[in-house]
Amino acid sequence: MGETAFTYEALPMRVVFGAGSLARVPDEVARLGLRRVLVLSTPRGRELADRLAESLGHASAGVFDRAREHVPVETAEAARAAAKDAGADGCLAVGGGSTIGLGKAIALETGLPVIAVPTTYAGSEMTPVWGLTEAGRKRTGRDPAVLPRTVVYDPELTVGLPLEVSATSGFNAVAHAIEALYAPDASPIVSLMAEEGVRSLLSALPALAIHADDPYARVEALRGAWLCGACLGATTMSLHHKLCHVLGGTFGLPHAATHTVVLPYTAAFNLPAAPAAERILRRATDTFDVPGHLARLSTALGAPPSLTALGLTATDLPRVIEQVLAAPYANPRPVTRDALESLLTEALHGMPAVGERGFR
Ligand code: NAD
Repeated sequence: MGETAFTYEALPMRVVFGAGSLARVPDEVARLGLRRVLVLSTPRGRELADRLAESLGHASAGVFDRAREHVPVETAEAARAAAKDAGADGCLAVGGGSTIGLGKAIALETGLPVIAVPTTYAGSEMTPVWGLTEAGRKRTGRDPAVLPRTVVYDPELTVGLPLEVSATSGFNAVAHAIEALYAPDASPIVSLMAEEGVRSLLSALPALAIHADDPYARVEALRGAWLCGACLGATTMSLHHKLCHVLGGTFGLPHAATHTVVLPYTAAFNLPAAPAAERILRRATDTFDVPGHLARLSTALGAPPSLTALGLTATDLPRVIEQVLAAPYANPRPVTRDALESLLTEALHGMPAVGERGFR
């Protein structure tokens, strides 16, 4: 009986989804009663941010375009100061997880509401999880204040997203769904979202490799990203996220690519201890060897094949292992030093056909 018990808490957010829904942003701003909204972007996303700011008219408090990966505290402080100077009563984050993360960092200290317009598949917009990096350490936490109030998903914004960013941010989202399936706070509704999210993303990404602007595949991928992000918002993540957090925060590895490289190895390690999750993933991917499928698909899509390709070296491994072992976290299988060493060594070299060699 114990295994059938669960707790599920729905998060209070509004989702507007559909091609062309960017045009609905001014109405969504007004709907929240906001009068001066600071638009956030990366330098590369500036043009879109300017367009959005213009569409807001008097409700725009300008554009802050210095969002960076892993949200350095200095960037967060500069953005908070910009919001204060502009008299902003809310933020509109248009971009990937880095830009949305900056909106969350502002909300964390100021309580300003965030509207998110995601342009990648990372899924941050659906979660109350924030992250800040200071002196080489990334801190994360959960706070309802950072959960975006409204998320506007417009698949047209993802049409120009390069295949590699599509693939790696998509695999980052798939990682949320996979870890949600064996999370200590998993529940039937989360499992449904996870299965459908994985199915949508992993079927859309190969279609995008053939035709990057395929509008149906873009819709499918973004729908998958929404579902996978919601899984992350609803559950506690395990070893895979912990490892990537250390690799990104301490070693500066790129977030989404790191998730993509590491996922087959953490899946190969954990799935034998999570048979219900593995069953669902086999159904969602229509394959038996889920880790092998993840490894083959990601490299076929042009994602980096190994942690070496991302700049990690064997001499870094002891520090990674120390940091991962230092803080306790949930995982379906006990995480030992030997297991971590073996998993990371394989990910470092990018062993082929991970499922066949694996840790079973
Ligand atoms: P990102 O936001 O850094 O974007 C990757 C690159 O793609 C950037 O250079 C960006 O300018 C560019 N880009 C974004 N949209 C584009 C588009 N439509 N066309 C062309 N280029 C585009 O990367 P990401 O993978 O979206 O997010 C990674 C960050 O998000 C990490 O810092 C990670 O920690 C965070 N994250 C947080 C959560 C959470 O719940 N808190 C969840 C997932 C990711």
